[in-house]
Amino acid sequence: MKYISTRGQSPALQFSEILLGGLAPDGGLYLPETYPQITDADLTAMRGMSYPDLAFAILSRFVDDIPAADLKTIIDKTYRPEVYGFTRKGQNAADITPTLKLDENLYLLSLSNGPTLAFKDMAMQLLGNLFEYVLTKTGKTTNILGATSGDTGSAAEYAMRGKKGIRVFMLSPHKKMSRFQTAQMFSLQDDNIYNIAVEGVFDDCQDMVKAVSNDAAFKAEYKIGAVNSINWGRIVAQVVYYFKGYLAVTQNNAQKVSFAVPSGNFGNVCAGHIARMMGLPIDKLVVATNENDVLDEFFKTGVYRPRGSANTYHTSSPSMDISKASNFERFVFDLVGRDAAKVRELWRSVDNGGAFDIKHLMPKLADYGFVSGSSNHANRMQTIRETKAKYDVVIDTHTADGLKVALGYFNQNQADKNTPMIVLETALPAKFEDAITEALGHAPERPTSLEGIEDLPQKFTVMKADAGVIKDFIAKNT
Ligand SMILES: *Cc1c(COP(=O)(O)O)cnc(C)c1O
Repeated sequence: MKYISTRGQSPALQFSEILLGGLAPDGGLYLPETYPQITDADLTAMRGMSYPDLAFAILSRFVDDIPAADLKTIIDKTYRPEVYGFTRKGQNAADITPTLKLDENLYLLSLSNGPTLAFKDMAMQLLGNLFEYVLTKTGKTTNILGATSGDTGSAAEYAMRGKKGIRVFMLSPHKKMSRFQTAQMFSLQDDNIYNIAVEGVFDDCQDMVKAVSNDAAFKAEYKIGAVNSINWGRIVAQVVYYFKGYLAVTQNNAQKVSFAVPSGNFGNVCAGHIARMMGLPIDKLVVATNENDVLDEFFKTGVYRPRGSANTYHTSSPSMDISKASNFERFVFDLVGRDAAKVRELWRSVDNGGAFDIKHLMPKLADYGFVSGSSNHANRMQTIRETKAKYDVVIDTHTADGLKVALGYFNQNQADKNTPMIVLETALPAKFEDAITEALGHAPERPTSLEGIEDLPQKFTVMKADAGVIKDFIAKNT
């Protein structure tokens, strides 16, 4: 299995060779040369598999340069019930991503039972173990530099803590994250984790990361790595839970299901697209956005019009406050028939701050099962309230965006109500206390092991928003 770039001007590489990197040298994103296909017999064999066995059955089709026994060990070590224990009443932690039936043909797929209570743990935990394996094998080390406004940074730190050959330098805006999110990250005392509170906003943090990445000499000398959302390892790890969700709510392979996916960078739903391309019987992929609706606009009009960070709304589903969906290029590559020259042409416009219009491909969009919708603050509050009243289940704001759009789709397409809809639960409500309190009048339940996390000692360094200072800091600490 070789991986190619969506821009078609980088050499094809193996899984381990692209694992530690982000963009391909030509600025494109990596995808497998072809999608491995699953047969009816394969799917039948997957019924009843445990999550780790299922993950191995799928990932081993994408990874052929790590010995199968080693890959199996890495997967088994990653997907253990002890790591995904924050289940709801009636759910089994051994399922890793258990479903919760809300109504006839309406389910939640709980993806947020890992250490940071967000679905990013699903992929990041695997990445931590894969990174350590590949680095140990090649005798290399890496310094991961990232910027976060909350979820990504903590998922990365919990995945990389204590890992051999890896240091994490995570920039976050000083005093701008919630107390809970800050405590989650800053209470980590591991020697290889460096929390850096930047005197500025999230964009300042991102600018510092960019400045360091643009300094090729520094980047090479200090082996600067990234775990951003375009990393292929993160995408492929997420393909697994679409299979798990499908198998959980169907009895035979003739049945189809749809998924509703709270989306930002298009990483999660891109994994759903790949599962579908592999042959998983997915009917619709419902892309749900918040007020930052660049993706909803595309799937409705065929026009992709990213907005700048100045035009990004700060919402109560903050992990979806994204106006340029970094993984979207992967889907468009497939949509244009894997024509890399076409992708280069489209992104020449995007990379220059422009837009593109591929309206003429709208009929093809339907072939891929994509539909979309958007949600806003009032919708989220109402959906959280109604879900509590009707099902006695408290959901977080991002999941509320997904559920709101899924229900809207059902309302407009009554015939599709016969197809099970699985809404991906991308975070637990405990992460967003203020918004839940606004919706319900009381704070969400918090897992007991996280009670009082705000009172733990914190380890962090306050820093000026200056790329020179972070470079010195990395140099001094490696
Ligand atoms: C990251 C995130 C999303 C968006 O996922 P993408 O893969 O970027 O589309 C949605 N919800 C939560 C809670 C997240 O942390």
